[in-house]
Amino acid sequence: LLMAYDPARRLAKLQVHLERAVVNARMIYALLDLQPQQREKPDAKDLKVTEARIEFRGVSFAYASGDPVLRGVDLVADGGKTTALVGPSGAGKSTIINLIPRFYDPSEGCILIDGQDITDVTKMSLRQHIAYVSQQPYLFEGTIRDNIRYGRPEATDAEVEEAARLAFAHDFILAQPFGYETPVGENGVTLSGGQRQRLSIARALVRNAPILLLDEATSALDNESEAAVQKALETAMSGRTVIVIAHRLSTVVNADKIIVMHEGRAVEEGTHETLAQREDGLYARLNNLQSPDTSP
Ligand code: ADP
Ligand code: MG
Repeated sequence: LLMAYDPARRLAKLQVHLERAVVNARMIYALLDLQPQQREKPDAKDLKVTEARIEFRGVSFAYASGDPVLRGVDLVADGGKTTALVGPSGAGKSTIINLIPRFYDPSEGCILIDGQDITDVTKMSLRQHIAYVSQQPYLFEGTIRDNIRYGRPEATDAEVEEAARLAFAHDFILAQPFGYETPVGENGVTLSGGQRQRLSIARALVRNAPILLLDEATSALDNESEAAVQKALETAMSGRTVIVIAHRLSTVVNADKIIVMHEGRAVEEGTHETLAQREDGLYARLNNLQSPDTSP
């Protein structure tokens, strides 16, 4: 198969899809790179990342069977900055994130990273520069160490532990029966939602990629976990180009830029201060509900 030359990377990709907890035929096709429009060009070059600036130009998209989900989206995520996507459930936020590693390709328009159209570069070089933390962290059968190392199979034990420290996971890992060698997953120990999420943040950190795509979650976390996850995320976000689907008010308020999505369009853009002042704006209304993303 197409990715058979690199089983570890293939697994990492599989994991991204399983994390969404959506295993349907469409996902399997995406997994196997069977969708013809996502094939690599024969003359594809390696992506060269300098600032890691991401730009959507007139991007429209529809999933195989359905109605348009993105309708001419123009947006820029500046290099090294945090761009928060907010908006009602179904607005297209997760779809924006799915297009960046090319799980799907736009039907119109293009996506550029540092000026290079992502359909002109090798998928491997594209994905090497991207780390993704999903809303529902998925753990594999295997040890805690294995689960972090999926982020970068060649990482040393020291690098795995450093990532775990940065993700505020090291202490709870050491408290497990076999520390880093403790099995997790169906036949292993049970970890809390916050602990699983910190492992998935450690997995993203060990990857050390300049682009971080983040689907935040606050549900299912107790207060203590949430504070730890928050700190872990701050570490992961610093110095990277981050696109975050923001559920936490603090993330939204601190973002360098907020983009408000509605029915497949980017309808407002600005900082918390500027957007909150537009009294007739969608952001101001969402902000008044204290919940920038109303999805579950
Ligand atoms: P958000 O993240 O803002 O809640 P999504 O990008 O997940 O929005 O979804 C936008 C629209 O696309 C929704 O109507 C959703 O039902 C649809 N959608 C999302 N994922 C898929 C998929 N894999 N196949 C078909 N439709 C999808
Ligand atoms: Mg979503």
